[in-house]
Amino acid sequence: MWNTISDKLRNAEKIVFVTGAGISQESGIPTFRGKDGLWRKYDPMKLATIDAFYEDPKLVWEWYEERRQNILNASPNPGHLAIAELEKYKSISVLTQNIDGLHQRAGSSSVYELHGSIITIKCTVCDFKNKITSEFLQLPPLCKCGNILRPDVVWFGEALPQDVWESAMVQASTCDAMIVVGTSLAVSPANLLPVYAKQNGAIMIEVNMEQTHMSSSMDLSLRASAVKALPELVGIISHS
Ligand code: NAD
Repeated sequence: MWNTISDKLRNAEKIVFVTGAGISQESGIPTFRGKDGLWRKYDPMKLATIDAFYEDPKLVWEWYEERRQNILNASPNPGHLAIAELEKYKSISVLTQNIDGLHQRAGSSSVYELHGSIITIKCTVCDFKNKITSEFLQLPPLCKCGNILRPDVVWFGEALPQDVWESAMVQASTCDAMIVVGTSLAVSPANLLPVYAKQNGAIMIEVNMEQTHMSSSMDLSLRASAVKALPELVGIISHS
């Protein structure tokens, strides 16, 4: 079976990665769910919704600013780097639920940020939007227009950026192989992307230390960490 899968991977022209918090766990960025996930300690409804933000913007910003600084000080790990390396051999797209920008910093050129970016900051009122890497010393930070700034992330109950989502659906529906890495597939609509790929007859691989509800639909489930599995997988795909 492994021979058939590795042949199909080597012959695939277009490979799409769907990634989640697990791929950045070994860069020192905690996941939400699973072992040591942040949601075991915090209530998402008090920190990651627009209602929570307007109720207590300082509290929500304190939580985000700490995560932002952790992310800005983190580095891409061999899992991110392996995906970027594969661009030398195949057409690659990365559909990520992550907001940390580590795929881009690893060198991936086709990254769709489904849930936005924690490094991009936007105004809650005017159209200011920019990447900001310096630390905010006063929280919540204010825009030049006088209103509160917020991270450009998609909170629970908010819609995904429509153009990004539409492109992601096209990528998923037209790939020959999909590699799903470090996501619990608990968040909708991102968890539909593997369904679109499967409908297109793509070969499906999962890299996750834990089982997910899509594991039984996979052609191969690698129960290993991203840092261990991805360089090996990429080595197999690129040696054709
Ligand atoms: P999740 O927290 O729901 O699930 C993480 C998954 O990764 C789990 O299934 C876990 O078993 C697996 N995992 C943990 N460590 C791993 C490793 N080293 N290698 C491989 N797999 C590993 O994450 P999700 O599915 O991405 O949840 C979605 C939400 O979490 C998104 O909205 C995303 O914005 C947000 N989030 C992003 C970051 C980030 O940008 N790095 C961090 C935390 C949460």
